[in-house]
Amino acid sequence: MLISDWKEIGQPAVDNPLSDQRSTQIRIQKSKISNLMPTLLVRHATMLVTMDDHRREIPDGGLFIRDGFIEQAGPTSELPSSADEILDLNGHLLLPGLINTHHHFYQTLTRAVPDAQDANLFNWLKTLYPIWARMRPEDIRTSTQTALAELALSGCTAASDHLYLFPNGSRLEDEIFPALEVGLRLHASRGSMSLGESQGGLPPDSVVEDEESILRDSQRLIEAYHDPKPGAMTQVVLAPCSPFSVTGDLMRQSAELGRQYGVQLHTHLAETQDEESFCLELFGYRPVAYMKSLGWVGPGRMVCPFRACPPGPRSACTLITGCGVAHLPLLENGPGLGESAPVL
Ligand SMILES: [Zn+2]
Repeated sequence: MLISDWKEIGQPAVDNPLSDQRSTQIRIQKSKISNLMPTLLVRHATMLVTMDDHRREIPDGGLFIRDGFIEQAGPTSELPSSADEILDLNGHLLLPGLINTHHHFYQTLTRAVPDAQDANLFNWLKTLYPIWARMRPEDIRTSTQTALAELALSGCTAASDHLYLFPNGSRLEDEIFPALEVGLRLHASRGSMSLGESQGGLPPDSVVEDEESILRDSQRLIEAYHDPKPGAMTQVVLAPCSPFSVTGDLMRQSAELGRQYGVQLHTHLAETQDEESFCLELFGYRPVAYMKSLGWVGPGRMVCPFRACPPGPRSACTLITGCGVAHLPLLENGPGLGESAPVL
């Protein structure tokens, strides 16, 4: 899709009535499909690194792809000799695309704020919340393009982004449409914060939303943009931000809405000792037990990534049966953010 297509198709949806959004999405999907070649032959790669169960590395390798799905991977001599489009990759290594399981695209704009550099997590957040509160829709779009370009240049082909602030008229569309333009597959999270400082939460009241609006917008976005099919370019994920920025009611209702529509859930959990103390004091549970009490933990029901577990004997990763975990050890080893938990 060209930039001009996005401006023509994507931009009006931000201002249009909600009823126009489904047709907007259909037009986008048709536009994407019309750009797909039915078959693609990739051949003569100096080395095809399959990363399959046998860790095969195939000299002079290639792929035969139909409608965006790999049908064959192997030596070029064993692949079909013709296709609608052919790529010769002599002199190249051919690798599977990397998958990013947790990101905050909008934070690409505030990486270098001096006061946040050596702060622990809670102080880092408190420093940046007021800055994030001033973001506009164009900031979401710019940061999405920046982050996805960085990911694409790193070999990433699919990304999950956790967007949980929607200040000054920002909407998830401000991320979905630029992502279609860049061309990476996206799990776009309709994140949320509802527990402001006045209710005992960490974020200032200026960046939290009321829960009825969050749930109504979540349902709207699922119906308008979630594509459950294999190979989908856009999937919508429900993502209340964390135990210290969302009420238990919103956690529970988001889980119910996610199950109703069959979409994944995503949150932060057990990031630091501060969070554990917060949960014990406010809810009477440690973080994992708290999420269990809210219906967020269960075999095969949802993905529940989190950034870190408390270190040592309190490690609770293995208790999250059936949930996926996105662990960010480098971040947790950073200044002020504590010891990395063992991944079992
Ligand atoms: Zn995060």
